[in-house]
Amino acid sequence: MQKILIAPGRYVQGAGACEKSGAQVALLGKNALVIGGKRGLDSVRESMKASFEANSVAFIEEPFGGECCNAEIERIASIAEGKGSDVIVAVGGGKALDTGKMVALKLSVPVVVVPTIAATDAPCSALSVIYTEEGMFESYQFPPSPNMVIVDTAIVAKAPTRLLVSGMGDALATWFEAEACSRTKSANMPGGVATEAALALARLCYDQLIEYGYEAKIACDADAVTPALERIVEANTLLSGIGFESGGLAAAHSIHNGMTAIEEMHHMYHGEKVSFGTLTQLVLQDSPREVLEEVLDFCVSVGLPITFAQLGLKEPSREKIMAAATMATAPGETIHNLPWKVTAEDVADAMMAADALGREWL
Ligand SMILES: [Zn+2]
Repeated sequence: MQKILIAPGRYVQGAGACEKSGAQVALLGKNALVIGGKRGLDSVRESMKASFEANSVAFIEEPFGGECCNAEIERIASIAEGKGSDVIVAVGGGKALDTGKMVALKLSVPVVVVPTIAATDAPCSALSVIYTEEGMFESYQFPPSPNMVIVDTAIVAKAPTRLLVSGMGDALATWFEAEACSRTKSANMPGGVATEAALALARLCYDQLIEYGYEAKIACDADAVTPALERIVEANTLLSGIGFESGGLAAAHSIHNGMTAIEEMHHMYHGEKVSFGTLTQLVLQDSPREVLEEVLDFCVSVGLPITFAQLGLKEPSREKIMAAATMATAPGETIHNLPWKVTAEDVADAMMAADALGREWL
């Protein structure tokens, strides 16, 4: 069994990182196509353009259509080809970043990922989620890891706090899922087993959340960049990104996938559902009480949901929970990386118990 770790080629983070981005991007190309949604581009245009020009890198902008679908990837790739772009710069949230990775793959040029929020693992990962033009899930594609990731924390701090908190919810799962995979020597995303390095980063991710999550949330409420906010942006983006990809996924993300079957939860963010999935995984694997209490405490302190009601499901019937649990235990789901055979019944019971624990805790 081979150990495999994958990671972005370079990771740059700090307040004002966009103002210095030209020197970084110049290492990869001289003619950049910069794609992103309106909000993303508006937040970086002035600083990046000036910095690119100061470093003799052309800054050519192309608005992103909003969906990471094959038609949009084709459209942007043909524009990049026409302009002779030798590097793609993708700015914004998950869909714009995923599109940029696919365009770069198509043209065999490097990609620079510039997340303007810290809500998911998308920036550092060698993964793009492809949707239909109507926004339905279509497939996962596996481009190479991004050549460079540039995170301007002054921009991330100004985004809504709920996005940063949701990123913490996604990051909360990383250690527990990687740990479960390492016990069973289950495959990580690139199809190897975890390196000690990946496990150490996954553990560090969890420790940073527990230590600095609350402070970072408060700083984000004030649109302020503090050392705690810097730590949490790094935990959400780099540590969780490498941790999940090179550590492996287990129950928390499968339970998240199952929860997409519950209509009342559709308005919740990825990380908010993943954090409840984490709580459920802890119940399922009979984790010690101290661990459960630490996680419950953390969730309450930053405002992550710990009950069905907080997730939008006011009347949880066994039937609805079973529908989610059945989906969570479908063949091929990463929940089967746990060390024993997990049934839908087990998951439904663990979800009900996690909700009851959450209600008790509040
Ligand atoms: Zn996730």
